[in-house]
Amino acid sequence: MTYEITLMRGVYDILAHGTCVYYLLSLLLRRNGIIVTMDLQAFTPDEGLAREIGGHVRTILTELGEDVSREGLKKTPERVGKAFQYLTKGYREDPEAILRSALFEEDYRQMVVVRDIDFYSLCEHHLLPFFGKAHVAYIPNGKITGLSKIARVVDVFARRCQVQERMTTQIKDCIQNTLNPLGVMVVIEAEHLCMQMRGVQKPHSITTTSDFTGAFNRQETREEFLKLIKG
Ligand SMILES: [Zn+2]
Repeated sequence: MTYEITLMRGVYDILAHGTCVYYLLSLLLRRNGIIVTMDLQAFTPDEGLAREIGGHVRTILTELGEDVSREGLKKTPERVGKAFQYLTKGYREDPEAILRSALFEEDYRQMVVVRDIDFYSLCEHHLLPFFGKAHVAYIPNGKITGLSKIARVVDVFARRCQVQERMTTQIKDCIQNTLNPLGVMVVIEAEHLCMQMRGVQKPHSITTTSDFTGAFNRQETREEFLKLIKG
């Protein structure tokens, strides 16, 4: 039986600063089947960077004809600076390290499916959101990872300036390189606001992308996965 404890960043920092206290503690707990990891979701924006980005946002708003001194817009530039740091925080996270932080030896060699992983990303052509669901399957080859880690990997790649096609491939490659499974398949279904609010203005269109390796080259294996995510 394995338990997993996720520490908030603040608690982690305190423990990590106590020389090797954190390390010894996590080693001790691991022996008893308790894995200690860090919650990278906790996010503190860099205030200086927010002000710097804010200055540019103020220029953009002014160029668009806005009066940036009016009440409603006063704090907007810095707020946008903080929001965009959050929306791109995936650049500062290491998805392979996240998978490796919960890696277990296991003989299970059937398909593992994590479906309906919600994500929000930014299209790199317009900096408008695209969002939807990611479905991930892999067939272990001696190693499995914590299921929440798969969702975290999706998040790391989503929180960047992206195109859906590349995001699909990056998630696949990350899992393939880290777990070395018999195969990985990733399917992403998303709505793109740059298609809905502007351009062709097709509000209900969904874009689907997929990529796979190894065992998923067999059509029956792909079909099994597709059936599982539709169910
Ligand atoms: Zn776009």
